[in-house]
Amino acid sequence: MAQEFPTQAQVVIIGGGIIGCSVAYHLTKLGWTDVVLLEQGQLSGGTTWHAAGLVGQLRSHANMTSLIKYSTQLYSELEAETGLATGWKNCGSVSVARTADRMTVLKRTAASARAQGVAIEVISPKEAQDLWPVMAIDDLVGAVWLPGDGKANPTDLTQSLAKGARNRGARIVERVRVTGISTKNGAVTGVETDRGAIAAQIVVNCAGQWARKVGQMCGVSVSLHSAEHMYIVTGKIDGVHPDLPVMRDPDGYIYFKEEVGGLVMGGFEPEAKPWGMTGIPDDFEFALLPDDWDQFEILMQNALERVPQLATSEVKKFYNGPESFTPDNNFILGEAPELKNFYVGAGFNSMGIASAGGAGRALAEWIVNGAATMDLWPVDIRRFANFNNNPRWLHDRVKETLGLHYAMPWPNRELDTARPFRRSPLYDRLAAKRACFGSKMGWERANWFAAADETPVTAYSFGRQNWHEAVRREMEATRTAAGVFDQTSFAKLLVQGRDAAAALNRICAAEIDVEIGRSVYTGLLNERGGYESDLTVMRLAVDRFLLVTGSAQAVHDADWIRKNIAADAHVTLTDVTSAYAVLALMGPKSRDILARLTSADLSNEGFPFATIREIDIGYATAYANRMTYVGELGWELIVPTEFAVGVYEALHEAGRDFGLLDCGYYALEALRLEKGYRAWSRELTPDITPYEAGLAFAVALDKPGGFIGQEALVAAKAKGVPTRRIVQFTVDDASPMLWGGELILSDGKPIGEVRSAAYGHTLGRSVALGLIEHASGVDKDFLTGSRFEVELAGERFAVTACLSAAYDAKGLRVKA
Ligand SMILES: Cc1cc2nc3c(=O)[nH]c(=O)nc-3n(C[C@H](O)[C@H](O)[C@H](O)COP(=O)(O)OP(=O)(O)OC[C@H]3O[C@@H](n4cnc5c(N)ncnc54)[C@H](O)[C@@H]3O)c2cc1C
Repeated sequence: MAQEFPTQAQVVIIGGGIIGCSVAYHLTKLGWTDVVLLEQGQLSGGTTWHAAGLVGQLRSHANMTSLIKYSTQLYSELEAETGLATGWKNCGSVSVARTADRMTVLKRTAASARAQGVAIEVISPKEAQDLWPVMAIDDLVGAVWLPGDGKANPTDLTQSLAKGARNRGARIVERVRVTGISTKNGAVTGVETDRGAIAAQIVVNCAGQWARKVGQMCGVSVSLHSAEHMYIVTGKIDGVHPDLPVMRDPDGYIYFKEEVGGLVMGGFEPEAKPWGMTGIPDDFEFALLPDDWDQFEILMQNALERVPQLATSEVKKFYNGPESFTPDNNFILGEAPELKNFYVGAGFNSMGIASAGGAGRALAEWIVNGAATMDLWPVDIRRFANFNNNPRWLHDRVKETLGLHYAMPWPNRELDTARPFRRSPLYDRLAAKRACFGSKMGWERANWFAAADETPVTAYSFGRQNWHEAVRREMEATRTAAGVFDQTSFAKLLVQGRDAAAALNRICAAEIDVEIGRSVYTGLLNERGGYESDLTVMRLAVDRFLLVTGSAQAVHDADWIRKNIAADAHVTLTDVTSAYAVLALMGPKSRDILARLTSADLSNEGFPFATIREIDIGYATAYANRMTYVGELGWELIVPTEFAVGVYEALHEAGRDFGLLDCGYYALEALRLEKGYRAWSRELTPDITPYEAGLAFAVALDKPGGFIGQEALVAAKAKGVPTRRIVQFTVDDASPMLWGGELILSDGKPIGEVRSAAYGHTLGRSVALGLIEHASGVDKDFLTGSRFEVELAGERFAVTACLSAAYDAKGLRVKA
């Protein structure tokens, strides 16, 4: 009997690729069975069908690894549930290193894999060859072996997920194209299709490389662009058998897997070929692009070096299929900030098969719970703004992102393409002063300043880099004289209205209903008591607050705040990021410098810590907020954009004989770490509470009216000493460089990982903040009674846990 076309559903999913089917599978598993999935062609006919099917677990972020770990578990069990085979084979994978630096990466990876419970072994080239006999190993330095990795058949997997969803009541309708999204009062109400309208409470855009276009139907930015992605399939090769592991040779940009006694060989070339600039054809179904041997040449050459037998084997098929890539090589997940109840799961950067299980579950949980159930910031849709959806910018950026899979993941690696993108009014001046720029949320930001005899270009390595001395100079200036930091990239949100104080007080964990002119550092917590953000709330008037938050958090924080303001409250939120530059003047001489430019009283009595005033600075009138991120006297000057250059010039004029120096973000990072200051998305995440972060002082637990996360914090407090905690460590040996991500051990056993690290020149050693876990509590006795080490590329170094900030403990702090 022909299926009746549905006219309503609780959830409509657009797209029957592996992601849409996984979302349907997991929604129904969570008990939401009134689900309709619409596919314009046939299931898996978009990008999914021609994927190579590699499933590698390791990712740079622990939660991303855990999503794929879950995928491997699901894929191994799915056939038993649905009766449909998935082609899952737990064949393991080998990754080889051609250089010492790559081997360092593999060893670092091995340490973090172990911390995440992923089985991994560091092996020799010979051992790698024993596992993968068809490769040449003369040029190899070493390898790692991941026995839990595998491969699957993407089409079979998709059908199996779809069957699981259908078995629990989902309706899957093929040959239906969504042509519009209906909305009312800022929320989605359903979809229009070429077969009629369907009313829905929730719509999920899983339209793969069409997802950007589907987003445009309702004003939602889905920042992705297609690029051509290629592999070949060879005829039979001696020594290749069905149980052969997957093999990755990232220095050659290539991977291999067995297929019918031959090899699939593909890769991620350093400069990709964007595709689909004039739109993706709707009928691009089970379709491929023309072979492009010129583009493939770099991969082929490297593959011939690794597998000499390829020279004589037949190429049976060339697959060139488009896949969508995002500006940062991470996929896009979550509820769109522009439209309530409209969710996105797209832009899988050639990791969709590996990610589908975990990503589908995470998105389904997000939908059912109305909020993410774990820290998903690396893939959160709110890390992009509408300007990231500019087609020319995306086109130029994806040329680079495809290659990132196998590019050297240097610890502070910057992307080079499609820059400069966003520029502060001081950009040219800082460039003239030999700034080496990095990029955050598209902003060009000075990382460090080169001296006349230095080149302002970062030379990457895992040891000390070429800016080590520059950062020493900048840190010293800030600790002993003053530094000026262009922090214009800070996101700024203006929250106004009769109910602003009440609404914000419910959203912030600290008391923000303070007198006018006070600045309050606070967390924005979720119901689990974890950090959705940390920011400064400045009260400008009874009904007006300026919020200054991290550069990457404008869209995220605005969305979080808007969602948590009652519909009938008299509050408006405006992103005023572009209206203000921020110049942070920090260091013991900052008062003397500023005093030359203003008539304002800058004394401790006249301008105490954590207060904001509107003051005159030279010819400009600007806000000055007495707060710094480095633990020294200082002010953040929040200056109307058009006055930024004037204030900057005036500061230098006034500061010259005090030793004022331009300073960059590398110095800022090291300065804040010496002081033990936490940063959002590293030490502060949606999975970490203020007690675990050591920031109980910034919580008003008993404030009248309560706040989001209060219940969870009360419960956490009642439990006593936290079993997980952010702790500062310094490395006993002055020479090693820590970068973040390193394994922390206590009495030889893994207990956590470094979240942020830098070389602290004031301390004369690397300093880090790490998250550690200990079942009977992380308290003073544990920290003083244990022997801690960090593992750096296989070598262990003793570290000292610091109970108060190492910088303060050493008595180095210069008092205001
Ligand atoms: C050559 C190649 C090799 C790859 N190898 C691997 C690998 O080894 N491992 C790995 O993990 N990943 C790999 N990938 C990536 C993987 O294939 C993708 O990440 C994944 O298939 C994306 O799935 P999806 O569901 O998001 O997209 P799709 O499979 O494209 O599904 C989206 C669906 O939405 C439908 N749709 C779009 N618009 C509408 C509309 N308006 N109405 C109704 N339906 C609509 C489309 O028809 C399409 O079927 C590879 C990709 C390529 C190109």
